[in-house]
Amino acid sequence: MQFDELLQNGQTLRRRCVRGRYAPSPTGSLHLGNLRTALYAWLQVRMADGQLVLRMEDLDENRAVEGSAEEILDDLRWLGLDWDEGPDVGGPVGPYTQSERTEIYEQALDILRQQGLVFRCYCSRKDIREAASAPHGPGGVVYPGTCRGMSAEEEEKRKAEHPGRKPAHRFVVADEEVGVDDVIAGHYAENLARDVGDFVVRRRDQFFAYQLAVVVDDILMGITDVVRGVDLLTSTPRQIALFETLGVEAPRFWHAPLMVDDSGDRLSKRDGSDSLAQLREQGWDAPRVIGYLAATLGWVDEGACLSARELLEELDDDELHNPTSSHPAPGDEKGTG
Ligand code: GLU
Repeated sequence: MQFDELLQNGQTLRRRCVRGRYAPSPTGSLHLGNLRTALYAWLQVRMADGQLVLRMEDLDENRAVEGSAEEILDDLRWLGLDWDEGPDVGGPVGPYTQSERTEIYEQALDILRQQGLVFRCYCSRKDIREAASAPHGPGGVVYPGTCRGMSAEEEEKRKAEHPGRKPAHRFVVADEEVGVDDVIAGHYAENLARDVGDFVVRRRDQFFAYQLAVVVDDILMGITDVVRGVDLLTSTPRQIALFETLGVEAPRFWHAPLMVDDSGDRLSKRDGSDSLAQLREQGWDAPRVIGYLAATLGWVDEGACLSARELLEELDDDELHNPTSSHPAPGDEKGTG
């Protein structure tokens, strides 16, 4: 199907009801922080009588961990979270696994290219770091524009300097503020030219970049509300720029606080210490996990045990919009800070 038609389908769905999504990457077991965000996304949609899309973000084959996609779905089901569309149940705007959507991303990239907003870039990370003028923005080094506006002749030269190197594709940003009024995190804005620079939409290893894929999917899946961790707040202005370029209104964003461990570090999937499998082994059941996650957001008293459905009944709109972020570690009665 052509992009335009897919876009219209998405827009039609979007007008019907609230549509949220939970979009895990199958890079290991979900930890409690990931599960809390999943619970948040589920509650937001269910409170609005909307529909939840489960999207598997497996574009980066190098980071994929075998069996983790299935484990993620099992964990969510075990917690009592359900979804209306997803890789296992299908739906009107599938496929719901990103690695099966690359033709769609190709079409989106073509649209940006036709608008003259994409260029090939031969720079390595090291080249960019070393470019004398490269300043730093909130997300790291700002791309200094090395390959933007290259003539055919210059491109030949760049290619000859790096034989065999495939180019990345970058999106041309404007020198203007792009802001978001986040439901939870408040106002956040960046000047993309100053703070980020032209950003990658297709990587040198030819995988489509997260920034492009996520926007294309949110558009075509008719997403009205994005609930995700606040670590992605700094990606949002870039994504809004892509929404605008593709002619679609950006969804509402809800950037939820991240869960941190006792020493204040954010949880990572790497050590697996806060995985559901481990908690289950220690005898935790689903109501205890839900109660624990909800307590860390100030929604129920510490030690509460309740199902996701029961939490949904208890929670009101004001609480959903205003989580408090305390984070006692499981089993650590002192850590209520
Ligand atoms: N797949 C991303 C992750 O697991 C989330 C992307 C998003 O919610 O926009 O971190």
